[in-house]
Amino acid sequence: MGDCIFCKIARGEIPCRKVYEDDELLAFHDINPVAPVHFMMIPKLHLASLTEAGEAHTVLLGRMLLLAPRLAKEQGLENGFRTVINTGKGGGQEVFHLHIHVIGGGNIPPMVRRN
Ligand code: 5GP
Ligand code: ZN
Repeated sequence: MGDCIFCKIARGEIPCRKVYEDDELLAFHDINPVAPVHFMMIPKLHLASLTEAGEAHTVLLGRMLLLAPRLAKEQGLENGFRTVINTGKGGGQEVFHLHIHVIGGGNIPPMVRRN
């Protein structure tokens, strides 16, 4: 996908602060972090969102989930972390290339605030 910003990062056309890379996956720090540690994991394959994923991506998605705790620990998140996947406009997604946010450190509030 020529115009996709995360595809450009995956191809090395836009710089990033890399956390991890292998043949299929890339992880890099968010440019606008919401916590002391905030990075995201993406497949190098362009998939717009979880909605576009199918059974063919089962192993890829599994690999991403299993990578999260390892990278979180390497980034110093010994006590846990939050994973977030925003899907579609209704889910607040802004970059339409599937990514898993890994967030932690500092004070992580409850995810859903109730009045
Ligand atoms: P979304 O709202 O789609 O789940 O999250 C998109 C995330 O991508 C945001 O947290 C935003 O800060 C991050 N982001 C957008 N553009 C760039 C970029 O060029 N580089 C990096 N490292 N992060 C980006
Ligand atoms: Zn893309």
